Amino acid sequence: MHVAIVGGGLAGFSCAQELRRGDPQARITIVDPQGAPYDRPPLSKEYLTGEMPRDKVFFHDEQWFAEQRIALVTDAVTRLDLAGMTVELDGGGSLTADRVVLATGGRARHLPIRGGDLAGLLSLRTLDDADRLRAALVPGRRLAIVGAGLVGAEVASTAVASGVEVTLVDPVETPLLAAAGALVAGRLHAMHAVHGVRVIRAAIERIEALPPTSPRLDPRSPSLSRGYRLQLSDRSTLEADDVLLAVGLVPDDGLAREAGLECEDGILVDRAQRTSHPHVLAVGDVTRRRAEGTSGIRHEHWEAAMRSGQTAAAALLGTDLPNHGASWWWSDRYGVHAEGLGDLGTGSSVVRELGDGAVVDFRLADEGRLLGAAAIDAPRVVRAARRLMDAGIPVTAEDLADPSVDLRKLGR
Ligand SMILES: Cc1cc2nc3c(=O)[nH]c(=O)nc-3n(C[C@H](O)[C@H](O)[C@H](O)COP(=O)(O)OP(=O)(O)OC[C@H]3O[C@@H](n4cnc5c(N)ncnc54)[C@H](O)[C@@H]3O)c2cc1C
Repeated sequence: MHVAIVGGGLAGFSCAQELRRGDPQARITIVDPQGAPYDRPPLSKEYLTGEMPRDKVFFHDEQWFAEQRIALVTDAVTRLDLAGMTVELDGGGSLTADRVVLATGGRARHLPIRGGDLAGLLSLRTLDDADRLRAALVPGRRLAIVGAGLVGAEVASTAVASGVEVTLVDPVETPLLAAAGALVAGRLHAMHAVHGVRVIRAAIERIEALPPTSPRLDPRSPSLSRGYRLQLSDRSTLEADDVLLAVGLVPDDGLAREAGLECEDGILVDRAQRTSHPHVLAVGDVTRRRAEGTSGIRHEHWEAAMRSGQTAAAALLGTDLPNHGASWWWSDRYGVHAEGLGDLGTGSSVVRELGDGAVVDFRLADEGRLLGAAAIDAPRVVRAARRLMDAGIPVTAEDLADPSVDLRKLGR
């Protein structure tokens, strides 16, 4: 069996790794224009601060891939031909496979406003993006971050610690509400101001490049730009040397759409990561899981991407699909560790205060079933809550709220 994996992010990589574990004979090829697979969370954290060297961002070196007999093709796929099960490459040539796994992730969303596509505006999705952003983190420079979601907030924290003057602009009063619930999202957002980040609640309506000193120079050239002026919805303006657009992700489902696979803001997949074509699977941020009564769920988190790759490998190998349990994400900023588990949108809220800013906001169903939790600096409690959730063990609001109750014991 030859499996061609299009995209070597976490999802494509974990699919390849799991396939090799399950089938020593399979021919496995990963195609990605960015070369060897690397991890993205460090790009807004340790790699951005300079604490993590570049080679540590990669999952493995090329020797490991050679030993595992996972072929890496540094190229972009331009077309998927379903009739011939062939992927065409940008550099010419093509690959024919028995199964194709689409793992193309997503690209940073652009703002559909005047000046939203100006040269030199920064985004953060790739290692190259992180290098450009890192070069701008110079003490005294002014950075405007548009969007206070997970990536924008983490960069604000990293940049302000580097001595950059940071302004964070978002029209939403409490970003991350759906993922973290009101209490944890509110406390996380309040940390920006405490750490010296200026927070403005507004939308961006226009971005202009400030003219360079000499009128003969092209004002759109990033190297000559003297910065940007942002027109905000509250009628104020903001000037910055650099602007990071952190306004979310657009799933890269173009190949799938052009091939006629069913897509809806992402490639639609079933619980085995199968697309609408029997020999094509899709994994990671680019997918939306079909779910009854909804248009499907698209997770854009590390663990979900890894697990979807493992599930696709199991489907390809014909083994039992792994039971992954509740979804989980994390975020690090201002020296704290935030996490979200399961569903924060339903159930009643039960809060456990642990002192020193550590807190867990649980979501509990009437019959005592744990539905979700969001937390700051409480990894052990979250781990225990996860076990209770996955095992379906009922809990009481009193036990959840009481910091002296060890949730691990309830799970035994
Ligand atoms: C800066 C940053 C910080 C993050 N921090 C966290 C965190 O703290 N916690 C958390 O839970 N999650 C975090 N995430 C999210 C997590 O990293 C992603 O969910 C995960 O990387 C998604 O993996 P993926 O493989 O689906 O997509 P990607 O990692 O986007 O990989 C897709 C790959 O497909 C390739 N590709 C695209 N088109 C083609 C084509 N036509 N041909 C060939 N290859 C193609 C791309 O080059 C890319 O390498 C973060 C993400 C970013 C960007």
